Amino acid sequence: MDYLPIFLNLKNEPCLIVGGGQVAARKAEILQHAGGQVSVLAPDFHDALLKLGESGSMTLLSKRFHSQDVCGFKLIVAATDDIDLNAHVAEAAKTHNIPVNVVDQPALCTFIFPAIIDRSPIIAAVSSGGASPVLARILRMRIESLIPPAYGRLAKIAAKFRTRVKQAIKESHVRRKFWENVLSGTVAELVFAGREEQAAEHLDQLIRAESQEKDGLRLGMVYLVGAGPGDPDLLTIRALRLMQEADVVVYDRLVSPEILQLVRRDAEKIYAGKQRNQHTLPQAQINRLLADLAKSGKRVLRLKGGDPFIFGRGGEEIETLMTEGVLFQVIPGITAASGCAAYAGIPLTHRDYAQSCMFLTGHMKDGRLIDIDWNQLSRPGQTLVFYMGLQGLEEICSRLIQHGCPADLPAALVQQGTTQHQLVLTGTLKTLPQTVNSSDVKAPTLLIIGNVVKLREKFAWFRPHGDA
Ligand code: SAH
Repeated sequence: MDYLPIFLNLKNEPCLIVGGGQVAARKAEILQHAGGQVSVLAPDFHDALLKLGESGSMTLLSKRFHSQDVCGFKLIVAATDDIDLNAHVAEAAKTHNIPVNVVDQPALCTFIFPAIIDRSPIIAAVSSGGASPVLARILRMRIESLIPPAYGRLAKIAAKFRTRVKQAIKESHVRRKFWENVLSGTVAELVFAGREEQAAEHLDQLIRAESQEKDGLRLGMVYLVGAGPGDPDLLTIRALRLMQEADVVVYDRLVSPEILQLVRRDAEKIYAGKQRNQHTLPQAQINRLLADLAKSGKRVLRLKGGDPFIFGRGGEEIETLMTEGVLFQVIPGITAASGCAAYAGIPLTHRDYAQSCMFLTGHMKDGRLIDIDWNQLSRPGQTLVFYMGLQGLEEICSRLIQHGCPADLPAALVQQGTTQHQLVLTGTLKTLPQTVNSSDVKAPTLLIIGNVVKLREKFAWFRPHGDA
């Protein structure tokens, strides 16, 4: 280990920065953020520093550096662009045994600055020991995405209950297990979902149960998660985290195998997919299953294609949970319309072509499309997106023409959008049904109708194999 990472308490401690440029300003802000009383010494100052000086939050010493200037400070940073002067500052600091950092000159430093992930009171620091600060920063970004922003709030709640838990649970290994459950389970998720009061209530219940040595009180929760249209890279950070925490996953046909692979390996996986006219699990049974699993103390991931609230029956599922008092949270996903449109190079709205966009279902019942106001759909200046529109494609196109849409209105069918199997067939209301009939189209497909489809010629950027 080249350096010992330690966390320094700088509250109200005098810190000196030598240098008046942008780099000095950045360092000044970090030290100030950590509570230090910052003085900046230089003949002239960058605007950012002048502003900080004017606000009275730090002292600007307008002078040339002299060795004696380091006296009385607890921490020194040399951030000038003059190598000799930096060396001079470092030497003066070392003579007085004051920790010193010289920007970009690790050899002169007695301490170095890490890349910081600040979820105070949780703080993580990453360092490459000066070998590659950029690499440390990239690593920091990765860690940032793994730690929910609300981690700090979780730590604060943990701090509040710490003494009580210590009194209630005497054995340290039992206590550790207790905290592990709390901090990676439902209590944590409630905090992340912004329901801190409820989190505190549940933590309170858990402590009571534990002190009465009641076993098995585990709080389950349902995560209703949108998995996006197919490309695993389009998952939200929260979706990915919950996928890695869940005990059991109930997933749909639309969830791609690549996405399913990202679910915690030892999680139980239950297929609840539906195919047209062939319901694997009736909806009521799915609703029941989710509630029962959560009530048995499990963290249940209900993983759905796209967004759970767009043609996803998410509303029905949470209604049951709500009635039965089961905790849940809903995580939006990228819906097929946005995913397919983006990857097909078709902006859903465009100043020149469409001022509104409608999401519709082309689902058929007894061979007919249901409840569609064709007059409204036939107005100009809008984009129509039909989910589940393949079977009804011919009827949709002919009805629109009947109700006044031009027969040459552009239309596109996007097959397996955002995946490596994406295929986009384009045409007009008149020609598209024929084009689709003579191709071997594979579900799922999305139908986009409107003048915006023309833009694909210019904007198509995602071209996986086969989609020329
Ligand atoms: N909740 C989902 C939609 C479920 S309905 C969402 O928000 O996207 C199922 C329909 O979505 C499919 O019949 C198809 O029309 C559409 N769909 C979902 N993923 C798709 C994809 N990758 N490519 C094309 N269409 C898709």
